[in-house]
Parts: sequence; C-alpha cells; structure tokens
Amino acid sequence: MINFQKARDRMVETQLISRGIKDPRVLEAMRKVPRHMFVDEALQEQAYSDHPMPIGDKQTISQPYIVALMTETLQLKGDEKVLEIGTGSGYQAAILGELAERVFSIERYPNLAYRANQVLQKLGYKNVIVRVADGTIGWPDEAPFDAIMVTAGAPRVPQPLVDQLAMGGRLVVPVGDRISQELILVKRVPEGIQKTNLGGVRFVDLVGKWGWQE
Ligand code: SAH
Repeated sequence: MINFQKARDRMVETQLISRGIKDPRVLEAMRKVPRHMFVDEALQEQAYSDHPMPIGDKQTISQPYIVALMTETLQLKGDEKVLEIGTGSGYQAAILGELAERVFSIERYPNLAYRANQVLQKLGYKNVIVRVADGTIGWPDEAPFDAIMVTAGAPRVPQPLVDQLAMGGRLVVPVGDRISQELILVKRVPEGIQKTNLGGVRFVDLVGKWGWQE
C-alpha cells in the first residue's frame, strides 16, 4: 500500500515550497486533497509526481506546481465565488473548493464532467458545481465572480470572462498558440483592467466560441 499522505507531503516540500509557493492555505489544500482519486486507478502511483497526467479524451490533469501557482495567483481568502473553465478530472476544482466559498466549474466533455462530479461528491465537496457547456462564454447567470481560472490554452483572453469579473476580481488564463502559452493574470481595478504576464506554460486547447475552433 502506498502512503498517499506521505507522497503529498513530499510533493508539497519538493515541488511547491522549493519553487516558491508560499500561501499557507494553498500549501494546506495541496497537502489535503487526494490527487490520486482524480486519476485512473492504474496511474494512482504516479499521481504525486512532478508532471501532468492523462485523464482521457486526450486531456490532462496539470502538474501539481502549475495547479499551486495558478491557485496562489487568485489570492483566495475563503469567501469568494470562483469560476473554473476546464473541469477535467475535477482536481483543481477540489483545491478551489477548499479555498473559496463556492466554485462553479465548466467542462465541455460530458463524460469528464460526470466522472469529476462523482469524485467531488464522494469526497464531500458540496460547494463545487460542475456543468457541461462552452466555458469560454462564462456562466452569466452566476456572474460576477471574485476569481476565474481557465485551465486550457486560449488564443486570446476570452472577453466574456473579463466582463464577468467583480471589481477587484482576478482572472488567470494561459494565452498563446496551440503549443505553448503565457500565463496571464487579468485584474479588474477601478481604473479598468490590469494585465500581468506570469511566464510560460503548456496547456491543452481551450475549444469554444472565444477559444480555438475544433
Ligand atoms: N483543471 C483540470 C485539467 C484541465 S485539462 C484538472 O484539474 O484536471 C483542460 C480541460 O478543459 C479539458 O478537460 C477540456 O475538455 C476542457 N475544455 C477545453 N475547452 C473548454 C471549454 N470551452 N469549456 C469548458 N471546458 C473546456
């Protein structure tokens, strides 16, 4: 039997703290959420390794460090309403569920959404809602959001997501071509919109109205 708690503690030390992740709440959530539950049983042994992993439908669960980095960037305190685009395995949604009040997550593949939702329910994440839709248009009925995270690579920042940010809200989204992207932080401030480039990343395609065409 693998000691998954030990594997998580080691992951946090060697992959996150060593690379500069500091927010104690983010580190705590990464120590707590059982990442191996979000991947195929045959891959569970590798769940805490320093790389992304396949989750079916040619999609991937991000490397732990990228999950931590994007989460830390949102600066969650606990009372936020958060939108995630690209539920995938549901792992990132669970991390957000630990750190915010309510999480709305959108996935375009019904079977991924179904599986993610099952794991999230089993683990008791009652504050996370998963929906099947094109996430590039956001979730207008629930807007505005204090934080929005896009976990697929976009050709440009989807404007509907910027429009659905609350004042002071943060949006983090990988923007670039279909091979590599820059992680962009968009903040809504009283003067307008502030953009910061957080560095290079590689994500699968964001496919939709404001993303890539299929
Ligand atoms: N956050 C996920 C990993 C995301 S992989 C996790 O923790 O496991 C990217 C996901 O984005 C894929 O599942 C893909 O199907 C989904 N996706 C791509 N374009 C989308 C869109 N327009 N709306 C919703 N989901 C989308």
